[in-house]
Amino acid sequence: MWHALGVDLGSTTAKAVVVAPDGSPLGSAVVQMGAVSKKGVERAIDTALDNAGLARADVARTVSTGYGRRLVEMADRSFTEISCHARGAVAMMPGVRLVIDIGGQDSKAIAIGADGLLDRFAINDRCASGTGRFFDVLARALEVEIADISDLAAASAEDAEVSGMCATFAETEVISLLAQDVAPTDIAAAVVRSVASRTIGLVAQVRKNDPVVMTGGVARNETFVAELSRQLDLPIARLDSPQIAGALGAALIARDDYLNSVPEDERTQAEWDRQRSGSPIEARHDCDGTRPHHDHGTGPHHDHGPIPVRLMPTVTRV
Ligand code: ADP
Repeated sequence: MWHALGVDLGSTTAKAVVVAPDGSPLGSAVVQMGAVSKKGVERAIDTALDNAGLARADVARTVSTGYGRRLVEMADRSFTEISCHARGAVAMMPGVRLVIDIGGQDSKAIAIGADGLLDRFAINDRCASGTGRFFDVLARALEVEIADISDLAAASAEDAEVSGMCATFAETEVISLLAQDVAPTDIAAAVVRSVASRTIGLVAQVRKNDPVVMTGGVARNETFVAELSRQLDLPIARLDSPQIAGALGAALIARDDYLNSVPEDERTQAEWDRQRSGSPIEARHDCDGTRPHHDHGTGPHHDHGPIPVRLMPTVTRV
């Protein structure tokens, strides 16, 4: 059986998702990198395939996305993060109208039309203050793990202020607040409020709409999602694995690309070739009942309805 692979090489993490012909995810991985690295991406691909019990030879089509998408050697094609995050978020949460993606280096607000297709988007990639980088700087200055920022901010008792103009100066600002004996909990909460208000500015550019979902690593910060929801005055759906939305979208685009470019009889021939060469074949049903429609920037694709994405990625470091 053929499979499709999506790889999202971001600024801080490499993510990979492998899907079956019907689009259901079979394996995924998130690899924390020091900096964009080919090693990180190779590890993510192998771990995701390993989780699915597959080998590289089982992959018929690969699409890459993310900041480092051109470094993914296995990719047949590359797509923008906007296309892939929109596609992945809609698959994870059918009916979503606004996707807020905050990664390590940029943040995006993506409006989805009633037809489930990408409508408009706004991106903040020049200033790091509305991105995960601000939280990374904060964690370093407070000497805590990034995963601890949420609990720290939730425990805040008093309002502190960070000017939040620039993440580059944030470290100095945080250190200065610590020197003034401001509690780390209050500093963390101030950064949460500041990043949330920057995000509201981004959302205003595409217009507020609901349902809303958050993707990207910062969605793992529960206190941030709650604060953003408060400032937005709308509930924000949380996904089990928000960090793999872009890679899932890339995998689904790879799947469509394969279905659109390879006639059905050749797909069957490819199956036979693979069986003869001894690659593992799984007994799964092939895609059925698909109907093509169009997506800006991603070409025709097959709508297969909601995808149950309960798959928890393996999270490792290079
Ligand atoms: P990229 O694709 O740019 O590498 P990600 O979507 O992987 O970015 O998000 C990375 C960001 O997510 C980090 O900069 C960090 O701020 C945040 N992050 C990562 N893990 C966690 C976590 N466990 N809790 C809170 N925030 C996290």
